[in-house]
This record gives sequence, structure tokens and C-alpha cells, in this order.
Amino acid sequence: MSFKVIPKSALPAWIEFLASAHTVYAPQTRQGKTRFAEIHSAAEVDLDYATTILPPKKMLLPQREELIRFKGNGKTTEPAVQPVFDARPTVILGIHTCDMHAVKLLDEVMRAPMVDPHYRERRANTTLVSLDCLKPCSPEAFCQDMGTHFVPEEFDLHLTDLGEAYAAGIGSEKGAVLLDGFEAARAALPEDFDHLNQVMSQRLSRFPYRLNADAQDLPKLLSVTQSSPVWDEIGAKCLGCGTCNLTCPTCFCFDVFDTVDFSLQSGSRARVWDSCQLERFALVAGGHDFRNKRAKRLRHRFAHKYEYLSQYEGLAGCVGCGRCATQCLVKITPIGVLNQLSTEKHYIGETNSKTEVRA
Ligand code: SF4
Ligand code: SF4
Repeated sequence: MSFKVIPKSALPAWIEFLASAHTVYAPQTRQGKTRFAEIHSAAEVDLDYATTILPPKKMLLPQREELIRFKGNGKTTEPAVQPVFDARPTVILGIHTCDMHAVKLLDEVMRAPMVDPHYRERRANTTLVSLDCLKPCSPEAFCQDMGTHFVPEEFDLHLTDLGEAYAAGIGSEKGAVLLDGFEAARAALPEDFDHLNQVMSQRLSRFPYRLNADAQDLPKLLSVTQSSPVWDEIGAKCLGCGTCNLTCPTCFCFDVFDTVDFSLQSGSRARVWDSCQLERFALVAGGHDFRNKRAKRLRHRFAHKYEYLSQYEGLAGCVGCGRCATQCLVKITPIGVLNQLSTEKHYIGETNSKTEVRA
């Protein structure tokens, strides 16, 4: 990987440079809350942000996304159907490493066994500029436990804050393009690498371990605790509101619906984010709801995150960002649930020495 150095004083010019050829999304902070939004000047960008309520996933898999438009001719029952794709050249700037791991998972899920052409098209035209966290973004984060406090190789450009400047690691051709012709970015010198190594080694001790089990043991933990009383206990507290899913960078379930105009001649089909925690999510033909209790739905959510996705994709379905824990009104948190499950005798019997609680 080659490196360049972008002085912070050159950030306004660089943002302008990026925006001249791309739609640029970046973190913006207003009234103490940060969100990813389209930006037009460096003054709007906050790269020192802690975390966001919604993850940058919302730019790759929007909350509401038109998939097709259809138009009839008034004579036949066969409407003309046009797929809708978003191919705008886009840059997402300032993605934390946990959210990059979430993009890595989404890339896998949207690639196979079924290709999602809408996601793939948008992703192909998006350049990802990631950013190292130098300290945990929230008390609820557990990226150290999930191994997501380092950037995965999916980045195009990766920034590390060196104080007066950013080190910019170039991960792809798309990333190199963002610095091509931007003269204020200079080649990295040996002292820049020394500085980068120093910053990266100092930050590690700031990230605590919070999980009382190894992340690699979580599939086993979820598998052997299916009948645990923990599920009824937290199910009795859960409001079934779905906030945990809607703030999660890895959740990808959606509902699909058609809208038809008054003439009944044209309309569109769209998808919107859905939540497995909502009542009726698992309602099927005949009126059977195979997850008709909150306890069952919570267990499913945890199993999907920590067991099924690891089995099917080889990647955990949780990146330890802590958003769901921060936003849950009744404080049902992954760390709380997983640590409670890890004290179950079934798990202890299955894993023996692996259940040692970390200091
Ligand atoms: S776990 Fe919390 S955020 Fe999720 S559905 Fe239940 S109450 Fe809502
Ligand atoms: S389950 Fe919670 S902690 Fe894990 S990735 Fe989703 S929002 Fe973040």
C-alpha cells in the first residue's frame, strides 16, 4: 500500500476537489448529533465525530429505494418495466473501521447466492474513504472484541489522523484517483511512517475488551443456549420497536411494495428497511407467525448476528459498533446478553476452558 500525506490545512481544497466530480457524503454534526449527509464544503464536515445514529450503510442500501418503474399503454395488461439504478459517482468520506467491516459483510451478502444488482451498481460507483478511530467512539462499542478496530481491505483510501495532517493509505485505483492531481497531498516521508506507527500503537490500549467469550466461540454460544431462560427474560423487557435493526450497519432485511398512480397506468416498486423485531415480520400465508413472541424474535436476531452469518458468510453479523445498545430504550445490549449467555452451564460444558472470563 502506498501512502500520501494530506495537511489538514488543505482539507477544504480537497473536499472541493472531490465534490467537483462526485456526490460526497461525510459526517456532519449538528446540535451534538452526527449523521452522514451530502456535503458541499469542508465547513460541513466533522471528521472528529464519535459515532452516528444511522450507519453509512444508508448510502449503499437506502432506507427507501426505488427498484423498478412500470408504465402501461392502456391497452394491454403487460406494462413496460424499467429497472432503476443509481450510478452517480459517489464518495463516502470518514467511515469508521467497524462500519467498513459492515460494508464488507454487505458486499458478500449482496454478491451471492443472489446478486442484488441495485446494491452492486451503487457500490461499483462508490469510493470508500475510511478513517481510523484513535479511541472508542462510545461506551457501548466493542470493536476490540469483534476485531473490527482495524480497517478491512475493502477501503479505497484510508485516513489516519496525525495531528496536523492525515496519513492517506491508498487501497485501490479508485482511491488513487481521489488524490491524482491534488497537489497539496505529498508523498509520505520516513518520519511520517514513524509518526503513523506511533499513533497506531498508542491507540490500542484505549480499546477495552468487554465480551466474556471469544468472538470465534459466539456461534457455539448461540447454538447451545437456544433454550436459555435469558430469551424469555429479555423478551419480557423488549418493546418490539425495531430500533436495534434500524440503527445496525449490518442489518439488510427489507420489505417491498408497489405504488400505482391514480390513472392505474404507471407506478413503481420500492424497498424499505424492515426489522425482524417487529410483529408480523414472520407472518406467512395462512396466518401462521413462526416468531410470534418477542423472546423468539430476539433470539433470532442474536442467532442471525452471531451464529448464522458466521456459518453462511464466514463473517460475523455484528461489528461491535454499539449503536443498538445506545439506542435501545430498555437497555438490551449485545454485551449484556452475550455475557449473560456465556455463564450458562450448557455453554460452559461445551467449551470448558474457553469460558475463562477476561480480566
Ligand atoms: S431490543 Fe431494544 S431496540 Fe430492539 S426491539 Fe427490543 S426494545 Fe427495541
Ligand atoms: S448488532 Fe448492534 S453492535 Fe452489532 S453491528 Fe448491529 S448495531 Fe452494531
